[in-house]
Amino acid sequence: MAATDTPRTRITWDYAPAPESPDHVRLRDSYGLFVGGAFVEPRDGRRLPSINPATEEPIADVAYAGEADVASAVDAARAAQPAWARLPGRERAKYLFRVARLIQERARELAIVESLDGGKPIRESRDVDIPLAAAHFFHYAGWADKLRHGVGGRDVRPYGVVGQVVPWNFPLLMAAWKLAPALACGNAAVLKPAETTPLTALLLAEICQEAEVPAGVVNIVTGDGATGAALVRADVDKVAFTGSTAVGKDIQAALAGRGVGLTLELGGKSANIVFEDAAIDQAVEGIVQGIFFNQGHVCCAGSRLLIQESVADEVTAKLWNRMRLLRVGDPLDKNTDVGAINSAEQLQRIEALVEAGVQEGAVRRTIACELPDRGWWFAPTIFTDVAPAHRIAVEEIFGPVVSVLTFRTQAEAIEKANNSRYGLAAGIWTDKGSKAFEVAAALKAGVIWQNTYNQFDPTAAFGGYKESGFGREGGAAGLRPYVHVT
Ligand code: NDP
Repeated sequence: MAATDTPRTRITWDYAPAPESPDHVRLRDSYGLFVGGAFVEPRDGRRLPSINPATEEPIADVAYAGEADVASAVDAARAAQPAWARLPGRERAKYLFRVARLIQERARELAIVESLDGGKPIRESRDVDIPLAAAHFFHYAGWADKLRHGVGGRDVRPYGVVGQVVPWNFPLLMAAWKLAPALACGNAAVLKPAETTPLTALLLAEICQEAEVPAGVVNIVTGDGATGAALVRADVDKVAFTGSTAVGKDIQAALAGRGVGLTLELGGKSANIVFEDAAIDQAVEGIVQGIFFNQGHVCCAGSRLLIQESVADEVTAKLWNRMRLLRVGDPLDKNTDVGAINSAEQLQRIEALVEAGVQEGAVRRTIACELPDRGWWFAPTIFTDVAPAHRIAVEEIFGPVVSVLTFRTQAEAIEKANNSRYGLAAGIWTDKGSKAFEVAAALKAGVIWQNTYNQFDPTAAFGGYKESGFGREGGAAGLRPYVHVT
C-alpha cells in the first residue's frame, strides 16, 4: 500500500485565504522573568527566541531562568502568600474575575499569539483555548468564597507556595487550569511554561499586573526542562505537572520523601470505541475531532480507534473520505483544520513512530496535500491492520495519526480499551444508553465521553488512572489538590 494517496480530487469550490491579521498584537521584542509582580532580568542574562513553528522565524526573545532565578521566584511567592491567604475569599475572587475579564478583552490578541507561538489553528485558539482559559478563571473565582462547600463542608487551608509546570499543547489554557484553582484556594504560584510556547503565559503576566494581583502571588519563570527540574526541587509545598509520563516519573522520584504535595496529568493512548449501532456519520465527525484537533497534540486524543468488525470497513472508508477534506496549513488562516507541528523534535518523534508502524506491518494512509515549504508539518494519517502489540497501538504519538483496531463483542472492546498502561480518556459511540453506561463503568479511564469527544468544561473534573497520572483538575474536584482538608 502506498504511503500517500493520490492527490485529492478538486472539489467544486475552493476557499480563498482568510488569514487573521496579527497587526494589533502587542508583543515586546524581549521578555524577562515575571517575579514579584515585575519583569526582571535573568541572573545569567540568557535569552533565546521563541520560534514560530509554521515559519521557523523568531517571534520574541525569552529569558531562561536558572536555579537562582527560580529560588528568587519561590521567595517572592513565599513572601506574598500569607497576606493572599488571609484575604477573605470574596476579595481573592475579585482578582480572579478581573483576570478572566481581561483575558476576554484581549482574547483576539491572545488567540493570535497562541497560534503564532504554538502552530495551532486560529479557529481552535479563538474558539477553544482562550474562551476556556477565561472560563476557568471565572469558575474558580466563584469557588474562592465557598471552599468549604467544595470539599464536603470541612475546613481547608492552602498548601502555601505551589510550583506548576505546563506543556506546549494548550499553553494559556494549561496555565489557567493550574493558576485559577491554586489562587482561589489562597496559594501563591510559580509557573513554568513550556520552552516552545512561553508567550501567552507572559501576556498573562501582564494581565496579572493590569488586574493588580498582589505582587508575588503569581510568578512566571520561562526556560527549558532544566528550569522545570529546578522548580520541582525548589522550596515549594506542592507541585502540579502536566506533560510526559517520563518527566512525571522523574518529578515523582525527586519529590519522594519530601512531604510535598503532587498532582500529575500525564500522557494517554485513549480508546475511541465505535459500536455497530452508532450513528456512523456522527461518529466519524467525533473521530476526526478526537484525533486531529490541535494536530493530535492532545493528552486525551482518541488515538486508538476501536471499531466493531461489522462496521469497520464502512467507518474507515467514511473516515478516510472525511480526512481528505481536512485543510492543513497556515495556523492563522481561519479555514485551516490542522496547523503546524509544535517543534522539530516533536515532528521527529511522530515520524519515528509512524515509521515503526510501517515496519511492524500496519497499513498507512496519509492524505495528499500541499505542505508549506518552511515550518514543521505532518499530514493526517490513518493506520489500519494494527495489532494490539504494535508500537503505534501502545505508545503516545502526540500527532495527527490514528491507529485502527477492531473488535467483535462488547467484552472484547472493553478488554482492548483497557489494555494500556495509560488511562486518561475514552469515547463510546452507540445508540444504546444502557450499553454506554455499562461500558463506561468497565473502562479504566478518568474521562469518558459518550457520542462526542474532546469536550472540555471548567465544571468537569479531568485526570487519569495508571500512567496517565493522579489528581483531578476542574470543578470542585480541582480544589482538593490545592488545599489541606482538616
Ligand atoms: P515534557 O514532559 O518534557 O514537557 C512538559 C513540561 O515539563 C515542559 O514545560 C518542560 O519544559 C518541562 N520539563 C521537561 N523536563 C523536566 C524535568 N526534568 N523536570 C521538570 N519539568 C520538566 O514533554 P515534551 O515536550 O518533551 O514532549 C514529549 C512527549 O510527551 C510528547 O511527544 C507527548 O507524547 C508527551 N506530552 C504529553 C503532554 C500531555 O498533555 N500529557 C504534553 C506534552 C507532551 P520544556 O518545554 O522547557 O522542555
